[in-house]
Amino acid sequence: MEEHGRRWIAFAAVAALLTALLTGVVAVWTDEEGRTWLSDRDAAPAEGARRVSPGDLSLVWGGDVLGEPLEAGTNSVDEGDRYLAEVFSARDDIRRGEIKRGLRILRRLWREHPGRPEAGYLLVLVERHRGRLEAAHQTLEAVLRTGAELAPEWRDTATRLQAELVEEIALARGDGAGLWHEESFDTPNFRIVYDHQFAGRDYGRRVARTLERVREHMRGAIGLEMERPLDVRLYTKAHYLQSYKHRFGFATVGFYDGTIHVVSARHPRDELYALLVHEYGHALFKEALGSHQPFFLNEGICDREEERARGKLRVARGEWRQLFDALRDDSWIPLHSIVRGFGGLEGKRALLAYLESRAVVEMIEERWPGATGRWLRRCAAGAAWEDALRAEIGLDVEALELALQDEVRSRFPPDALSSDLGGGAG
Ligand SMILES: [Zn+2]
Repeated sequence: MEEHGRRWIAFAAVAALLTALLTGVVAVWTDEEGRTWLSDRDAAPAEGARRVSPGDLSLVWGGDVLGEPLEAGTNSVDEGDRYLAEVFSARDDIRRGEIKRGLRILRRLWREHPGRPEAGYLLVLVERHRGRLEAAHQTLEAVLRTGAELAPEWRDTATRLQAELVEEIALARGDGAGLWHEESFDTPNFRIVYDHQFAGRDYGRRVARTLERVREHMRGAIGLEMERPLDVRLYTKAHYLQSYKHRFGFATVGFYDGTIHVVSARHPRDELYALLVHEYGHALFKEALGSHQPFFLNEGICDREEERARGKLRVARGEWRQLFDALRDDSWIPLHSIVRGFGGLEGKRALLAYLESRAVVEMIEERWPGATGRWLRRCAAGAAWEDALRAEIGLDVEALELALQDEVRSRFPPDALSSDLGGGAG
């Protein structure tokens, strides 16, 4: 218990340090009287003020503000600024979902500036966040090997981070099974399993009530329900990430593999309801088709119901706009390419795939009300999914895609297009 707490403090320390360090491009100055200035401009805020790099800050502020001193490195202040600016921009790329690009820049920065720990540490945290635990571990080892100039506090924190990674790798491999104590709660329709941090039967009862509402919602929406008890496992976010982050190229909070796995807060509210609607939808889909394919209809149905559970009944105008932009700049993802999965799609591309899927299901439901439910039931009765789709709406995937593209274009009058171009919009 105490051990666990310490590990989190250690991790929080590294994360907080990086957050403080990487929150934005702000220039830091000290004046002749030793006062510190922060500004977002290039001009000195006071006469005689000297610009310092964040690496110098801990010295200037006696280590109290950043908490742990950083080595300033061997470069001039200007070169240090350039280096940090590149670290910032790589971090921004990663936040925007351009993970490969961000990682490429970080790896280069780390190679070129072995005396600076920021790029290496960020690399470790990003790899860990993506669930690439081995890569994170190896990078951290290398950072420690080359970081002869690391301050003792950094080294200390890094050593603990290293121990955490070793444990996470063991968990991911299954060597750590049994580390978590589990509770369960059974109802006629669900077998609910949750880890010890939630404790108490009250939590189980609350989740059971939520799941019954989910079952009602889906029966109303597509006229199907599970005919056998369904396993549902709930995790704290930390445990979920430790166990499953490595499965996906993009951030997830739940998935279905015969069992529903979801992240849950200690006091679950509407968020858990919406999430369970989505995953219960996948369970119904798999039950009906015996497969997760076609993914664009699977995710489209589940994502749409999730949004409706959140009170968002329609694809928003701004989202149609994103689809329109995807058509205009040729980044549209063909539906036939997302029949077998969303694999290989990261960040913005994955979001676009979800959006196209939700929009196509919404279009089907508006033109042929109830068609997705009837399609699922035809599949459950043994029809091949493409035959069932033709039987229900008279279109194959290619025709469906053209209809969706026409729908997208029809929402933006042609003169909007030309005036956009005429206005030189970027
Ligand atoms: Zn899904």
